[in-house]
Amino acid sequence: MSKAPKEYYDEIFQLIEQHHKWFSNSIPLVASENTPSPAVREVIMSDFGSRYAEGWPGERLYAGCTYIDKVELIAIELAKKLFRAEFADVRPVSGVCANLVVYTAFTDAGDTMFSLSIPSGGHISTGRKSLGGTAGSVSRLEVENFPFNVNEMNIDVDETKKKVKQAISEGKKVKLAMFGGSVLTQPHPLKELADVFHEVGAKVCYDGAHVAGLIAGGLFQDPLREGADVMSMSTHKTLFGPQGGCVVSFDKYAEIIKKATFPANVSNHHLHHVCGKAIAFAEFLEFGRDYALQVVKNAKALAQSLYERGFQVLGEKKGFTQSHIVLVDITKYGLGGDLEKKLERANIILNRNLLAYDLKQNRHYQNPGGIRLGSQECTRLGMKENDMGYIAELIARIVVKGEDPERVKKDVIDFRKNFNKVHYCFDSVRKAYEYIRIR
Ligand SMILES: *Cc1c(COP(=O)(O)O)cnc(C)c1O
Repeated sequence: MSKAPKEYYDEIFQLIEQHHKWFSNSIPLVASENTPSPAVREVIMSDFGSRYAEGWPGERLYAGCTYIDKVELIAIELAKKLFRAEFADVRPVSGVCANLVVYTAFTDAGDTMFSLSIPSGGHISTGRKSLGGTAGSVSRLEVENFPFNVNEMNIDVDETKKKVKQAISEGKKVKLAMFGGSVLTQPHPLKELADVFHEVGAKVCYDGAHVAGLIAGGLFQDPLREGADVMSMSTHKTLFGPQGGCVVSFDKYAEIIKKATFPANVSNHHLHHVCGKAIAFAEFLEFGRDYALQVVKNAKALAQSLYERGFQVLGEKKGFTQSHIVLVDITKYGLGGDLEKKLERANIILNRNLLAYDLKQNRHYQNPGGIRLGSQECTRLGMKENDMGYIAELIARIVVKGEDPERVKKDVIDFRKNFNKVHYCFDSVRKAYEYIRIR
């Protein structure tokens, strides 16, 4: 039997409030997520979200943009400062959209792009058509994968040089190299490879969706100084949100990128999220360095603590991680999909992850051999290295010792009581994950 509209309406609010309560009592370890400050949450509820502003500030296709233009110009100025970039476009509405802007600006259908394969940590937006990847399906690019060395957890420089030569000798039009990725524990060899691509006439992009905050904090690599022509990113993984995208580059590419964003890939560009980006960028300029420093310390502590409890953390030879991400081969204890569900029952939220050798060993993405953990959101809640040790113990109790997740959940909820506020921001009077009612 169908329900009355008001019943659906009430049910939706109940579900959302339950979600907020759940996250208030959980340990958030999904590496692509973060929690925005109350200030960012406030501005994304503003009227900006109901307006249209197509085009560049000062050259809009709509009236009513007086204040919107001013805020967007501030967002641009702050993005340029954060990434020490000559040019920034804050309009892409997501990380995938930012990559589409890059493809539109620098490639044509049929060109070849180098990127990481998905099992090596690449993102579906840089994938080939046969996998349903955005680069292949939408931008009609041919995709070659960077040769990847699992021991080093990094792109193999010599093998890549050979592969580029090979591709050129086969007549492929290599026009773009896309560094960066979704499982990125070590800085990529941009300095070593940027010129290899430039010499064959290709542009170099760094997809900083995950590590943008670490780059802005000066803690990872600095793509625009290491040979990248352009960098795309999401604004909500290691940056402070809201969900969105951004592209930074040099003045010489400004016009081509502006056109690639509008009209090619966005019409209206979610102006409330432009406000949110502006606030988040200001917060990041003030607090980002301290934050990024703690994110990396926490990831290293989490990796080390898991390792000491018997987990096979990848990248041991390289100190496990230089970013917010920890990748664990979990096959000793089960499969990634099963363990993700089991941990979720204890309010420990992380995700399964394909390992570079999974496909060869007949595992697939639904139940792969790995789990991926990120320290960025727990850091935003104020956690430090010793808290990472405690989280590793909670995970080990379930995965290694086989303890009932329901029992561990009680300790998770107790532990979370100590971390109620969003840190690294100017104003934080509301609780993290507090449901705010305005109706
Ligand atoms: C998350 C991610 C994206 C996509 O970002 P969205 O903001 O989710 O669209 C693109 N590239 C990489 C490497 C990512 O990890």
